[in-house]
Amino acid sequence: MNRRRALQLMGTMVMGLLVQAHAAAAREGMAMLQTKKIVVIGAGLSGLAAARELQAQGHEVVVVEARDRIGGRIWTSTKWADMPLDLGATWIHGVEDNPITELAQTLQAERLTTSYNRNATFDMTGEALSSVDENYLEELREQVMEELRKAQQRNADASIRDVIDALAARIEASPKALRFINFILSGDIEQEYSGSADDLSAYWYDSAKEFDGDDELFVNGFHVITEYLARDLHIELGQVVREIQWGEAPVRVVTDNAEFLADQVLVTLPLGVLQAGSVRFTPELPPAKQEAIDGLGMGVLNKCYLRFSQAFWPTDMDWLEYIPANHGEWTEWVSYMRAANMPILLGFNAADRGCEIEAWSDEQIVANAMQTLRTMFGADVPDPVDYQITRWASDPFARGSYSFNPVDSEPAMRAELAKPLDGRLFFAGEASEKDYFSTAHGAYLSGLRAAREILA
Ligand SMILES: Cc1cc2nc3c(=O)[nH]c(=O)nc-3n(C[C@H](O)[C@H](O)[C@H](O)COP(=O)(O)OP(=O)(O)OC[C@H]3O[C@@H](n4cnc5c(N)ncnc54)[C@H](O)[C@@H]3O)c2cc1C
Repeated sequence: MNRRRALQLMGTMVMGLLVQAHAAAAREGMAMLQTKKIVVIGAGLSGLAAARELQAQGHEVVVVEARDRIGGRIWTSTKWADMPLDLGATWIHGVEDNPITELAQTLQAERLTTSYNRNATFDMTGEALSSVDENYLEELREQVMEELRKAQQRNADASIRDVIDALAARIEASPKALRFINFILSGDIEQEYSGSADDLSAYWYDSAKEFDGDDELFVNGFHVITEYLARDLHIELGQVVREIQWGEAPVRVVTDNAEFLADQVLVTLPLGVLQAGSVRFTPELPPAKQEAIDGLGMGVLNKCYLRFSQAFWPTDMDWLEYIPANHGEWTEWVSYMRAANMPILLGFNAADRGCEIEAWSDEQIVANAMQTLRTMFGADVPDPVDYQITRWASDPFARGSYSFNPVDSEPAMRAELAKPLDGRLFFAGEASEKDYFSTAHGAYLSGLRAAREILA
């Protein structure tokens, strides 16, 4: 018997046992009746948070995960044994009252602080900006932000690019001013919100709430959190869900090699996966939910870690910024020297540029990054000794890095995405979090919200 057939049989057997268990439960009275069989699709932060809560309330929970690892967009690489590095989320953004801080404190997880205030900006001259240019950049930044605030008062939405193009035309921006403006759009907006300035809604791009306080990263990687949440859970790895039959009870979750039955199912598939339609819903999702899925945006933020034998950059800075000739090229770098005493630089590419380089080979990406670093710090900068590169848009189980609000979207779409269907199908995941979307804490909070809905 081949493995696939064996797994199919196992799935069918599990199903049979479950049906029998349900019948037995019906006979055995109240105590058993209250125990629900719940399948959680996705072992990312939201799925694990929900599963843990539901299991703690005495329900029978199975987490079904496509990958051969847990964590989803929390993914700590241990390739460099002396410095675990996060390929997905790195920071607790705003540690005050952040639920991830609370988890980190429970675990006594060691953390480091990085600060946007420790930053230096470099132009193509190979020098840090002069104070005159710094002031000029600051002036332009204020104009860009003011223009976007004004756009939020208008009657119709527009893309950030359209709003800022109008500003550039009005002030008759010089080629240098245009380069600085593009740097602001890339560094301040696209790297944070992951969508292209061409797509981001001027109305809603910044509609999420934020927590106060520093940004902290985990010395041993963000996976300390997902590993903690996953303790004692029943997780089925390597189960790629293809179809969810939710029209009647029990709900059937069909994977490549098994079938899971449940009273209730929690879907935590990333927005990009829902948009791609790689999981079929039978019956189809109601039009309002499908419109919410299609109307929100899934953006890209890619990372390239470069490890050197020693640092050649200003080591008292956390952030090194670069104003490139072309929009979005390596505008943001993080140095691991001050925080972790490691000669490692992390370069980012977001939005369109982040997507574009996914088609390049690793060698091309590293060569391109080194060209920038040599412009910033001099031609004699040595090659890295090693590198680690992400490609989140090409990842079939993420299809992007995190969600954003495109032109013509509305915050209500996230509430629509979160809405349960017929008391059987529930939804969580960062994209379904109206207040804290696109973040690790948003994913976690969405999982807790969905668990409450299921328990109610
Ligand atoms: C590069 C990058 C940097 C980031 N930086 C930060 C940061 O510094 N701070 C921060 O707060 N947030 C950050 N984020 C965002 C944060 O990582 C996410 O918001 C959060 O991890 C999402 O969790 P989730 O549970 O919603 O989704 P996921 O973690 O994506 O979980 C969904 C799960 O579903 C699984 N799945 C997909 N398809 C199927 C299928 N067909 N069958 C079964 N399972 C399937 C996936 O494998 C995954 O495990 C970053 C994200 C990225 C990618």
